[in-house]
Amino acid sequence: MGIIVQKFGGSSVATTEKLEKVCNHITKEFEKGNDVAVIVSAQGKTTDRLITEEKEITNSPCKREHDVLVSVGEQITISKLAMMLNDKGYKAISLTGWQLPIITDDNFGNAKIKSIKSETILDLFEKGYIVVIAGFQGINENGEITTLGRGGSDTTAVAIAASLKADKCDIYTDVDGIFTTDPSKVENAKKIDLISYDEMLELSSLGAKVLHNRCVEIGKKFDIPIVVKETGKENSTGTIVENSKYLENMEISGIAKDDNISRVTVMGLENKIGKTYKVFKLLAEHKINIDTIVQSFGESINKNLSFTIKTSDLAETLKVLEENKEYLTAREIIHFDNLSKVSIVGIGMTNRTGIAAKMFEALYEENINMHLISTSEIKITVLVNQDESDRAVKAIHNKFF
Ligand code: ADP
Ligand code: ASP
Ligand code: MG
Repeated sequence: MGIIVQKFGGSSVATTEKLEKVCNHITKEFEKGNDVAVIVSAQGKTTDRLITEEKEITNSPCKREHDVLVSVGEQITISKLAMMLNDKGYKAISLTGWQLPIITDDNFGNAKIKSIKSETILDLFEKGYIVVIAGFQGINENGEITTLGRGGSDTTAVAIAASLKADKCDIYTDVDGIFTTDPSKVENAKKIDLISYDEMLELSSLGAKVLHNRCVEIGKKFDIPIVVKETGKENSTGTIVENSKYLENMEISGIAKDDNISRVTVMGLENKIGKTYKVFKLLAEHKINIDTIVQSFGESINKNLSFTIKTSDLAETLKVLEENKEYLTAREIIHFDNLSKVSIVGIGMTNRTGIAAKMFEALYEENINMHLISTSEIKITVLVNQDESDRAVKAIHNKFF
C-alpha cells in the first residue's frame, strides 16, 4: 500500500470513451489499497485550439492573459473525470492548480514550480478521496494564473509525486514507453525497458517530447521512478526512467529530433575579449534562448560566432543583432532556417570509440550535409536541413539498431 501518482496526457483523455479507460487504471490502483493522485492534461488538441483562437485576436498577447486562456483546458478534464469516478461509486474530487495550490514563479508561459501544498492532497487521501489535479497550471505569489510550458503536465505530475514522496509516477500516454526513436516516425523503433535519468533528460531536451524535460530533472533530483506506458494496455511494464541499473550500457540509447531550428552567424566580430559576451548578454536581455554555440576564427583580427535558436525567436534575434551591429563591431549577420537538430544519446558512448564516425557515416551514405556539430559526454548533435531530417533519423537508427 502506498501513494501512486498517475498522469494521463491529452490523447488519453480526448473522449468520454477514453476517459472510461483512464478510470479503469485509476480504480485498479485504488482497489489495491493505494492512495491515488491523478494529473490530467487538456482533452485532445484543446490547448492547440485555444492558441489558434488567441491568434484570431492578437499575435502578441499579454503574457498574463495568455496563461489565463491556455490553462482552461485542464479544468474541463478534471471535472469530467471526477464526475465519472463519482458515478462509479468512488469518492473523487477535482483541484485546479490554484486550489491546491501549486505556487510558481511569475514567468508566464514557462513558469517554474516553487512549492506544492501537498497537505491538501494528504488530507483528502485521509478522507478516502481519489484526488484529480489539473496539470500544466499554477498560481504565482500575486495570485495570478501561470502555466508551465507546453507539455508541462508531466512536470506537474512528477513534482506532485516528489512532494507526496510517492513510490512512483506513472505517465500514461499514446505509446507503450520510451522508444529508441519516435515510433510514429520510424517503424522499427524499439521499446527501451529501462533508461537513466541523464539519458532521458538529454533525449527530451533534444526533442523527444514523450516526456517534458523538466519532469525528468525533478524525478532525478527526488529519486522518483517515472514509468511511461500506454493508456488502455493491460499489465504493461512500459519504460522505467530511473538511475540505471545496467552494468554495461548499449552504444547509444536513443535518437531525438527537434524541428524548426535556425542558425545565426555573426560574421567578422572583432577578435577582442568581451565581444562574445556582449552578443549573448544582449540576447539574454531579450530572453532569447540560445542553444548550440560555435566560435571560429574567420580572419586573424575577426571571429565568426554561430549559434542555434528556435525559429520562432529568429525575427527578434535578427532585429536585436542588426540594431546593435555597430556596438558589437560585427560585419554581417547571416542566418539559415528550416533546419532540424538530430541527436544521438547514450551513456555507453563515454567509453567507446567510433560512435561519431558511425553516425556521420549513416548521414554520408544518405548524402545528407551537416551544418553544425556539437557534442557532450553523452550526446552528439548535428544540424541538418529539415526536409532531410526524417531520413537522417531513419538512417542513423538503422546504423545503430
Ligand atoms: P501526451 O499527450 O500523453 O503527453 P505526447 O504527445 O506529449 O503525449 O508524447 C507522446 C508522443 O511522443 C508519442 O506519440 C510519440 O510520437 C512521441 N515521441 C517522440 N519521441 C519518442 C520516443 N523516443 N519514444 C516514445 N515516443 C516518442
Ligand atoms: N495541455 C498542455 C499542452 O498541450 C499541457 C500538457 O498537455 O502537458 O501543452
Ligand atoms: Mg506530453
